Amino acid sequence: MQNEPLMRNIALVAHDNMKGNLVGWCKHNREILVGHNLYATGTTGDLLIKTLGFRVTCLQSGPLGGDQQIGARIADGLIDLLIFFWDPLLQQPHDPDVKALLRIAVVWNIPVACDLTTADYIITSPLFAIKHLGVRPNFKTYLNRNIENK
Ligand code: PGA
Repeated sequence: MQNEPLMRNIALVAHDNMKGNLVGWCKHNREILVGHNLYATGTTGDLLIKTLGFRVTCLQSGPLGGDQQIGARIADGLIDLLIFFWDPLLQQPHDPDVKALLRIAVVWNIPVACDLTTADYIITSPLFAIKHLGVRPNFKTYLNRNIENK
């Protein structure tokens, strides 16, 4: 059991101008990534399947709800790592979804890489091979907060 390879659930998302960077990064890290469960927003996932032959669970395209689907999986504890190359130079029609995805990843203490350098740091980190990349927060205090009518 101890020697079983660790399967992580990795979400991959890239805005159109950043898709080339993500494909290049995935190609470079192919040997590592193929050993994990990969999820992606629709167009990003299709591209990874067609160009690299990856096995990817494709969700909706980002602007059509894909970012929210990944966010929901994070809230359900089903995603361990988010690689999200968002475009810092272009306004997105689904900007609220982008913000929501980045927020929910922080809420649940999921490692997030928004650029190549951070993605490299995470995937080469010794922590990447350890079961828990981060501790899932316990929101007991928040959930038990006093909401009496005033
Ligand atoms: P896409 O979505 O992979 O379907 O292009 C990415 C995004 O905009 O979130």
